[in-house]
Amino acid sequence: MTATATRVLVLNSGSSSLKYQLLDMTDATRLAVGLVERIGEETSRLSHTPLAAGGEKRETEGPIADHEAALKAVGAELTADGLGLDSPKLAAIGHRVVHGGLKFTEPTVIDEAVLKEIERLVPVAPLHNPANLTGIRTARALRPDLPQVAVFDTAFHTTMPEHAARYAIDVATADAHRIRRYGFHGTSHAYVSRKTAELLGKDPAEVNVIVLHLGNGASASAVAGGRCVDTSMGLTPLEGLVMGTRSGDIDPAVTFHLKRVAGMSEDEVDVLLNKKSGLIGLCGDNDMREIRRRIDEGDERAALAFDIYIHRLKKYIGAYSAVLGRVDAVAFTAGVGENAAPVREAAVAGLEEMGLAVDASLNAVRSGEPRLISPEYARVAVAVVPTDEELEIAQQTYALVSA
Ligand code: AMP
Repeated sequence: MTATATRVLVLNSGSSSLKYQLLDMTDATRLAVGLVERIGEETSRLSHTPLAAGGEKRETEGPIADHEAALKAVGAELTADGLGLDSPKLAAIGHRVVHGGLKFTEPTVIDEAVLKEIERLVPVAPLHNPANLTGIRTARALRPDLPQVAVFDTAFHTTMPEHAARYAIDVATADAHRIRRYGFHGTSHAYVSRKTAELLGKDPAEVNVIVLHLGNGASASAVAGGRCVDTSMGLTPLEGLVMGTRSGDIDPAVTFHLKRVAGMSEDEVDVLLNKKSGLIGLCGDNDMREIRRRIDEGDERAALAFDIYIHRLKKYIGAYSAVLGRVDAVAFTAGVGENAAPVREAAVAGLEEMGLAVDASLNAVRSGEPRLISPEYARVAVAVVPTDEELEIAQQTYALVSA
């Protein structure tokens, strides 16, 4: 890598999509952002915004056959802005990889052995890891000379102690099939817990934070002195909080019941719990804006869905307060956490005895900046801290290749 190579391309590759951001790490500015959707269909769409040039969003529609074609199309867009993938200024490509198992505790430069290990983890992340691998292989074929770094969603959670990570099931069976709690959204939990410490003017090593990542997928984590000690997602992202379309915690016997009594197949149960449950299953909407609008109109189903969502959230705040012993801050992040003031207010309501409170006027402020929303007297800081997973991936990637 040359001293002038300061750019990092971040790729987040899904089964039919490719999200990307190009950043300059000298000052962490975003040069371009974009998304290719519906890869493999006739109606693929590429939207690209060249932020460096102050440019307008450009959208192109038309068939993009596979991830290789998608990345080439992205490359062409970047070249048109003078930011081409062949530029000597490009230092590395950072890839989001969902499942790193127990082996990957840090961002890792990708080689054949790393690819094999990510492949070996496909049975525990059947939806995500194959898509991530496709993205990596495509990018390596295009720029074989460039360091490519995998940043794992699970890595931040590998510090969880055994008593938090293990399910109470037969140890031999669990170990044979690598069944344990891995946790996800780790890049976000790492970034937000660090930013929360910064907001408090403290070293991350000094503070205990509960991070509530509330997006369409949602997870909570307990972070003690910068290290994750518990998180709500488990073997897969299905466990924990009520989410947009996932049930979160459920008695596992519900699955036997659905098969034995309702005659559902394994796949049908999988789809029910992952895609047709959570908020959408409860009230038919998974967008919190729409749910709030319906509640304002007196819709009882929407109100009950909201209450169930908040009840689970409160239980995790309580549980993680107990796990941490002392809580310095509760940080809300992601689409719902950053934008839905009623969710933040309801999640903390009634927890004054635990030192938690929200100031109504601070909570109503809309801003893209990290901010405190608790009143001065509150013992525990309540914060809104916008997450930035791409920046975190870029920073981890750049730190590794420029070391
Ligand atoms: P994410 O997965 O982090 O992109 O979050 C997406 C979710 O954030 C959406 O499904 C909405 O439920 C929620 N969201 C986004 N903007 C708002 C808003 N202004 N108010 C309430 N919820 C929002």
